[in-house]
Amino acid sequence: MHRDPPTPILRPEEELSRLGASERIRYRLVGANCRYHANDNIAEFIREGEMEELKAEVAAKMQEVLRALVIDTDSDHNTNETAKRVAKMFLTEVFRGRYVPMPSVTEFPNVSRLNELMIVGPITVRSACSHHLCPIMGKVWIGILPNEHSNLIGLSKYARICEWIMTRPQIQEEAVMMLANELQERVKPDGLAIVMEADHFCMHWRGVKDDESMMTNSVMRGAFLKDANLRREFLSLLSKKT
Ligand SMILES: [Zn+2]
Repeated sequence: MHRDPPTPILRPEEELSRLGASERIRYRLVGANCRYHANDNIAEFIREGEMEELKAEVAAKMQEVLRALVIDTDSDHNTNETAKRVAKMFLTEVFRGRYVPMPSVTEFPNVSRLNELMIVGPITVRSACSHHLCPIMGKVWIGILPNEHSNLIGLSKYARICEWIMTRPQIQEEAVMMLANELQERVKPDGLAIVMEADHFCMHWRGVKDDESMMTNSVMRGAFLKDANLRREFLSLLSKKT
């Protein structure tokens, strides 16, 4: 039977190198069947140097947005560099948690077998809504009931994990769930409680222009679900801390 010699298959990365950075990253994500919603972290699909490429790409598209808004960025010195500034702000500040890996966290075995309710907070939250990309500013409190097998992490690490989750466009309900999942997996406590209270700027700046736009969400897991006293203790300590 006659067979044609196999056609040389280009290595995917060679093929990809001809595309823009965002296309390349998207191609890898789709290939790995990995979700890439606004609140997903995609760090493991980004190669060295590609963040710089992304920054240039977003700046160029942002320049087009300004152009579509009929703003003369050439003669208006205030908006001259705006596209670049916004691209940098999105990628390295306000949406940073999508593009960088989880901050490294050292876990300590619970040698002293702590089993008392521990509360961390208020942790300042700076996030953005995925509907309008408007700021969400707020606070988070975390309640942990460790058991002897729990891993303990340093206090400042709670804030770093929280920041990593929050610096993504998202909705508050999903943000607290994501934070709970991350902490559950690392700390493995008997009980985990999270309360987030935040101000949604898309309610001030646009829409109903409502000044009462605080939203409070909570997640209760394990012992906090089963034990009403524990839940009450957490909530009462928390109200004293505001
Ligand atoms: Zn919004």
